[in-house]
Amino acid sequence: MTIRTRFAPSPTGLLHIGGARTALFNFLFARHFGGEFLLRIEDTDRARSTQEAVQVILDGLDWLGLSPDAPPVYQTRNEARHVEVALQLLAEGKAYKCYCSPAELQEMRERAVQEKRAPRYDGTWRDRDPAEAPVGVKPALRLKAPRDGEVVLADLVQGEVRVKNAEMDDMIILRSDGTPTYLHAVVVDDHDMAITHVIRGDDHLTNTFRQIQIYDAMGWDKPQFGHIPLIHGADGAKLSKRHGAVSILEFREQGFLPEALCNYLLRLGWGHGDAEFLSREEQVQLFTLEGVGRAASRMDYAKLTHLNGMWLRQADDARLVQDVVQRLVAAGLTVSTVAMTRLAALMPGLKERAKTLTELSQAAAFLARSVPLPFEPKALALLTDDAKAMLGRLVPVLAATDFSAAALDTALRAFAEVEGRKLGQVAQPLRAALTGSTMSPGIDATLAGLGREEAAIRLCAAINGEVAADTNQLQ
Ligand code: GLU
Repeated sequence: MTIRTRFAPSPTGLLHIGGARTALFNFLFARHFGGEFLLRIEDTDRARSTQEAVQVILDGLDWLGLSPDAPPVYQTRNEARHVEVALQLLAEGKAYKCYCSPAELQEMRERAVQEKRAPRYDGTWRDRDPAEAPVGVKPALRLKAPRDGEVVLADLVQGEVRVKNAEMDDMIILRSDGTPTYLHAVVVDDHDMAITHVIRGDDHLTNTFRQIQIYDAMGWDKPQFGHIPLIHGADGAKLSKRHGAVSILEFREQGFLPEALCNYLLRLGWGHGDAEFLSREEQVQLFTLEGVGRAASRMDYAKLTHLNGMWLRQADDARLVQDVVQRLVAAGLTVSTVAMTRLAALMPGLKERAKTLTELSQAAAFLARSVPLPFEPKALALLTDDAKAMLGRLVPVLAATDFSAAALDTALRAFAEVEGRKLGQVAQPLRAALTGSTMSPGIDATLAGLGREEAAIRLCAAINGEVAADTNQLQ
């Protein structure tokens, strides 16, 4: 049997962090067993579903490296089939027509509340003679669910969960306007897509018991279910906008790497010993639902950022250059070919110091700029008259030095000694003059990366007190 999982988002909002983790678990589970990972867009809520939201889901999954193995299935396109199954249930006497009006249902609910019972449909039309049907009223179809016994679910994450059939009322499978309900459509689609494992948020657990009643009524094999706990904010409350980035694509904007985000989401609520940093291959090899905990997990941005820094240091330099260039251009800077070459040369040193692509771009922005540079206030403060005089004496020294990092290091140390200063007392004003900032890769690498000519131009501009009017750093 081929293992087949699916991610079934409703395109009514953003692809959020919880959805991304559900997709990841389904993807890894399918890959682990050599199966297939499918995508179903649950667009039956036509009023709230949008094409933009579908696109965000597709883009988000693509960015995370979780694209499905087949084109997405759109739930609305299967509507005729959902109706067909509902009518089959009716024909087999497993569903019945219910003529209750909205007012009657409302009254039923109110009575239940008054009598302190759970508000449930009371089965009015379950055994009533259809000949008594009111004229001109279109009926809804309800499942004739068993009243005795219980539904037992051996959940792959939650363990065994039981619900008595008596606690569930006869659910509507086809509304009076002829449209299938969501609960019914999901079962038909999962069956038709030959889904073997339904892995989804534990907010769907109660739905599962009702869905099992439909499987049983149709005599279909049931998939196995695994309900994974939700992700909460650091404060323990359900994740929402006030917790910061909630859309997956916002994480991209904020400079997180998709592999770092996936790694983090996997570790959030799934464990394999102490292993923290896991490649996609290792994730596929190790992932099963046994390692998924039952408690809700808490989103921890500090941890995610730390992990992102680790992935950034491992990332391919050429890829990082490309991303940084895009970010610099988006920030309004022009990145020349020369600047790009400098960026590539300095990338090993730059990526050691950054935790996100945003930080990396901020740190790299000086390479795309030309004199007069904008200065951070702290950097400007380093360029005292004394420092400028010292840099003036350094200019001829640099002019006479080979511009390799090693030769520059030797020359700077010798210069500091002659000046009677510590290396840092030379390097810090020099760094400020070259970059407009107090942080950069090693000063020897920074000099070498800029090259003799550009370094000299920047030094002279700083000595002459040339500062860009716009002192804003890249945000
Ligand atoms: N469409 C549902 C949601 O967005 C998921 C349904 C399911 O996984 O069965 O939450």
